[in-house]
Amino acid sequence: MENDEIMAKIDQNIAEVRKEIAQAQNASPFQKEVTLMAVTKTVDVDRINHAIDTCGIRCIGENRVQELCEKYPLLHLDGVSVHLIGSLQSNKVKYIIDKVDMIHSLDSLSLAKEIHRQAQKHNRTMDCLIEINIGREPSKGGILPEEAELLAFYDAVTEAAPAVRIRGLMTIAPNTGDHDAYLHYFSQTKSLFDMLCENRLSKRNDVKPVLSMGMSGSYREAILCGSDIVRIGSKIFGARVYPDKQNPVAGAR
Ligand SMILES: *Cc1c(COP(=O)(O)O)cnc(C)c1O
Repeated sequence: MENDEIMAKIDQNIAEVRKEIAQAQNASPFQKEVTLMAVTKTVDVDRINHAIDTCGIRCIGENRVQELCEKYPLLHLDGVSVHLIGSLQSNKVKYIIDKVDMIHSLDSLSLAKEIHRQAQKHNRTMDCLIEINIGREPSKGGILPEEAELLAFYDAVTEAAPAVRIRGLMTIAPNTGDHDAYLHYFSQTKSLFDMLCENRLSKRNDVKPVLSMGMSGSYREAILCGSDIVRIGSKIFGARVYPDKQNPVAGAR
């Protein structure tokens, strides 16, 4: 495809996604505002800047620290929030602590402590979402979907890592492609989120809770179940092409 065609396709895709988000919002019992995050892993800087400048994308998500750091200085980020959505190793927190507005993949106390340490160095707090492994999949990050475990993790983080500000939950549903399965996993995640809000988040007045769920194949279901942020990559930018052929799923988790 020619460059103009590629950009026109992105415009068209974003328009379509926005229309479907609006339809799902109307059909949803929750009537929430929904943030459209453009997931930009493997997407080159020109296409990302086009989505920002021409299509008004105001939230982007990257998976890999190195890729984010390489693209970061070239992105048009005025008024755009940048989220880290992929699994994060503690030793890489220092590279992104001054670049991202939110981390969606908090799932261990050691990671929370390192985010706290780096955030303090930069005199800031870091908004984080606790990742829930809603399908209990061994290959995925996140903590198990157990109420007691979630509350204990929240308490441990707020105690040991006060510069980490937990804003809510993120989940990646098992990639079944099945409408009812998505509804099942997302409504379970919403219940955990409500439980966390009721028992912890509502007791603070400094956080608007955030529930991050839904991807290209599942964002309508996620919105029907009360998602606040949908993370959409391939439906906006087309199928991902991984530069490293040895490792075709690098960063895809
Ligand atoms: C890649 C990715 C997405 C977007 O996936 P698509 O199916 O391309 O929309 C969303 N969330 C996370 C955590 C991802 O890694």
